[in-house]
Amino acid sequence: MNDRYSRQILFDGINEKGQKRLQGSLALIIGCGALGTAQVESLARAGVGQLRIVDRDFVEFSNLQRQTMFTESDAVERLPKAIAAGNHVAQINSAIQVEPIVVDVNFSNVERLLEGVDVVLDGTDNFSTRYLINDACVKHKINWVYGAAVSSYGVSMTVRPHETACLRCVFEETPDAASAPTCDTAGVIMPIINIVAAVQVTESLKLLTGQVGDLHNSLMQFDVWKNEWRSINPGPPREDCPTCGIGLFESLNPETNEVAAVLCGRDAVQILPAKTTALDFKDLASRLANSGAVKFNEYLLRFETGPFELTVFPDARSIIRGTNEIAVARSLYAKYIGN
Ligand SMILES: [Zn+2]
Repeated sequence: MNDRYSRQILFDGINEKGQKRLQGSLALIIGCGALGTAQVESLARAGVGQLRIVDRDFVEFSNLQRQTMFTESDAVERLPKAIAAGNHVAQINSAIQVEPIVVDVNFSNVERLLEGVDVVLDGTDNFSTRYLINDACVKHKINWVYGAAVSSYGVSMTVRPHETACLRCVFEETPDAASAPTCDTAGVIMPIINIVAAVQVTESLKLLTGQVGDLHNSLMQFDVWKNEWRSINPGPPREDCPTCGIGLFESLNPETNEVAAVLCGRDAVQILPAKTTALDFKDLASRLANSGAVKFNEYLLRFETGPFELTVFPDARSIIRGTNEIAVARSLYAKYIGN
């Protein structure tokens, strides 16, 4: 085992003591797409003892260009990303524990997902989930590392609640969804993913081994195509920050949170069930058999009807493809899934 980590132990910043700390640590990776898979693989190889991997989606062929670890067979089987990543980690490092969780991270479960966690890595692709992570991490005083990449541009910042500026201190409002480019509208190249994920993982290793003095303490921005590298000082935590200054934690409030969301650029809408449910796929499949084509495995059920495709998860969360309209998706959900 020592041989596996020998080069990392030789490195002064980690050494024998740091390696032991990594082995005793739990990292939570929220979102296991491009950034998430790169983070998971690096953390697994580095020997972080426990990885909790959370993702709501399944593997598709369009992911393979940049989402390391996933293979063609994952896409053919359309495995949930958290499960596929967990399978690959087991082959990379069997000495660590992986906990794959297939859910949509939202106000109802984020605090539970944070239990026992030493550091959180942002692998998401949207600002509303990042505000949610920021609120929950500041509330529970857990360090987290923000990261985003689109096109050839990337950004990262490390948040230590009440010690550094938080995400809300720096970006008070969500950038307008229509104005901000996304991976689905502007594309993305893999090298920028690797750069952002590498910075996020390095910051996490510093946090987990207690080398806080080596953190970069900035909002880092990179453009690998235009050759621009910037590091902006975000300043100290703001007293008037709704999250770390005032402690409003708006994203954790069920009354202000929607149950339906358009998945940007995907011609799809996600619907969350009104209450916690555990679906019996066999029952549901026989109920739907007369209305269209149904297939299911232990992780998800897929139902095609007319121009629409419904992917249903065991907790009744559904991704409805073939529409960008919440009303259309809601009515399909009500008609076929119920509740
Ligand atoms: Zn703040």
